[in-house]
Amino acid sequence: MLTREDLDVSIHPSFDKHEKVVMFTDQATGLKAIIAVHNTNLGASLGGCRIYPYAELNDAVTDVLRLSRGMTYKSALAGLPLGGGKAVIIGNPREIKKPGFMQSFGAAVEQMEGAYITAEDVGSTEEDMIEISKTTSYVAGLPEKEGEDGVAGNPSPVTAYGVYCGLKACAREKYADPSLKGRKVAIQGMGAVGYALAEYLAKDGAELWIADIHQDVLDRAKAQFGDQAHIADAQTIHTLDVDIFAPCALGAGLNDKTIPEIKAGIIGGAANNQLAERRHDEMLKEKGIIYAPDYAINSGGITSVGYEYFGRTDRNPYQHALTRDSMMTHVARIEETLGKVFTLADNKTIATGEAADQLAEEIFKAGASTQTSAA
Ligand code: NAD
Repeated sequence: MLTREDLDVSIHPSFDKHEKVVMFTDQATGLKAIIAVHNTNLGASLGGCRIYPYAELNDAVTDVLRLSRGMTYKSALAGLPLGGGKAVIIGNPREIKKPGFMQSFGAAVEQMEGAYITAEDVGSTEEDMIEISKTTSYVAGLPEKEGEDGVAGNPSPVTAYGVYCGLKACAREKYADPSLKGRKVAIQGMGAVGYALAEYLAKDGAELWIADIHQDVLDRAKAQFGDQAHIADAQTIHTLDVDIFAPCALGAGLNDKTIPEIKAGIIGGAANNQLAERRHDEMLKEKGIIYAPDYAINSGGITSVGYEYFGRTDRNPYQHALTRDSMMTHVARIEETLGKVFTLADNKTIATGEAADQLAEEIFKAGASTQTSAA
């Protein structure tokens, strides 16, 4: 039987006026999940479901609080009428998913009565979303249905397109020229987003340095991009003398050790939580590096999932139809949004991460009326 317990996290260091944090357990399936809703000023909260073998319950609480807060900022800045929320399931995704397990999680999502909509994250898959959809309608990241015009499905290529658009804003800020032709770009992590980003950049005539911990993706990329791509060492790719460093692997890659070693003038990539600590964006500013705040440049994925959800539930908040074209136009606005972030950072002499936070807060604190005209 599924049981729920509202958690009082008001004295937790990562508590940031979260609206609701609920723990769900189901002894029958072994489910132990926490759903955190940070803020719903702009709409229902949408954020992925992370399945991870947290060593301690407090680690899971810390993660879900930080991630759900991040989603509020990401959706607000992306011009989406969505709030910020996230779920974590405690356990090893390779071992824990027994029959009925994801359906049990779906029942937990259903109990949030629409305040939280789930989707994929680390450890959860499209197949999991299909299982979840058997017990709740508050789920996105489902396979594309006939007639959906490319709005649903894997969001990674859309994220890559957003990063590509964002890098043009970075180039404009750094070189007064948005063109990426001839720019030297180091991509750390050639997974779903990194590889698709490489394709956009290669098409524009950029020169690529690529690194991954798996040789097969590098071989595939080398075969596809030829002399335009050079294979780099995964440990040292951040130290290369390039124009742009694009972190597309894991978080916390920008830290006390790596920042002094970075020679690139621009940092912009898909990875979430790139700064090991908040103060590191100040360090990047001191070095004169143009840093595209991660949640500002990697919002293509949430935009894709949001469009899918609006379309499926007949809740189109926009004046335009929810087509592939309108979605990509929406994502392309990352270039303009980052321009605003850089201008604010310049005007106030603050780091770009701080500027993005200020812009996002202005939007979600003002509430829903600001959102529906985006794109
Ligand atoms: P992915 O798992 O498909 O790709 C990550 C790649 O990084 C893998 O190929 C992996 O082998 C490689 N990698 C791991 N450790 C590495 C290291 N130390 N050095 C070099 N390469 C390493 O994931 P993805 O979907 O491409 O996402 C990449 C990042 O972007 C993640 O941080 C993810 O949270 C974030 N993100 C993804 C999306 C999306 O739509 N997929 C949206 C927003 C943010």
